[in-house]
Amino acid sequence: MEHFNRFGYFYIIPFAMAIWDFDYSSISSITRLLEENGLGMTKKFGQNFLVSMSALDRITALSGACEGMRVWEVGPGIGALTTKLLHSGAEVTAFEIDHGFCRILREQAYVDVPNFKLVEGDALRNWKTEWETQGTPDIICANLPYNVGSIFIASVIENRCLPQTMVFTLQSEVVDRICAKQTDDAFSGFSILTGIDYENTDAMRLRSGCFFPSPNVDSSVVVMRKRENPLVPDAEARDFLELVRILFAQRRKTVKNNLKATGKSSADIDRALTECGISQTERAEKLSVGQILALKRSLQG
Ligand code: SAM
Repeated sequence: MEHFNRFGYFYIIPFAMAIWDFDYSSISSITRLLEENGLGMTKKFGQNFLVSMSALDRITALSGACEGMRVWEVGPGIGALTTKLLHSGAEVTAFEIDHGFCRILREQAYVDVPNFKLVEGDALRNWKTEWETQGTPDIICANLPYNVGSIFIASVIENRCLPQTMVFTLQSEVVDRICAKQTDDAFSGFSILTGIDYENTDAMRLRSGCFFPSPNVDSSVVVMRKRENPLVPDAEARDFLELVRILFAQRRKTVKNNLKATGKSSADIDRALTECGISQTERAEKLSVGQILALKRSLQG
């Protein structure tokens, strides 16, 4: 940007400070940075930084982030993935709970970087406010601890915030559940929740050495791409997902027993089961999406 000063000469205002050139693959650099800032890693927030550049490059490529796209990153840490996403030219909004890491991101990593926005605090609490102001992002990308990851994914889908692509690094067991087919042991209510709007792929497994510190569980990257034709009409999705939650609340119980939590009478439940051709002794994991949808309609009818 050129401007003229009061002597008539032009000067140049730097458009933005450069994105931080930090070596995220160097454990000694990370350790030094944390020490200099009086910080440590805490298990409570599942802090395992990605230190494999090839994994970071692959995750960024899988997300499809590029110039002008709006990307949410949950749990940027000190910015390993954030830096890659920013270099793609995407507009990145990052949600980080650790105030020490936030200080590094704000004061060292991305000072005046115009395509970076930090939302400090718990992403599980803050994402909705950001959604109300920004709308649905194009992409969500995150390397998150298991419990936060699955709660966050459930929360965005249940609330119908549905980006075109979501890429998550999670405990492999959770990725197995997201990608499970009905005949798989890993199949659960979570597989249905994550499957009605998205086609899900287990894109890669990450060795524990890709992280610092190394976690003692296996990790995988799941890519969730929005379906052109969702399995459940959007207008019915919230009620459908509420029914899925009830049906899978107690896995050992039959559909009939779990349905008592809907507050419907036994007669209404029996009538709905008969209408949908579902046996009285059936369990939820045997039901197809179509049958659950029919059951929802029948119970509401
Ligand atoms: N993205 C970085 C990377 O890949 O190196 C850090 C990933 S580390 C596994 C998880 C990050 O999520 C940590 O920075 C942690 O502080 C943050 N985190 C954990 N729970 C969170 C929450 N509820 N909201 C926002 N950030 C959270």
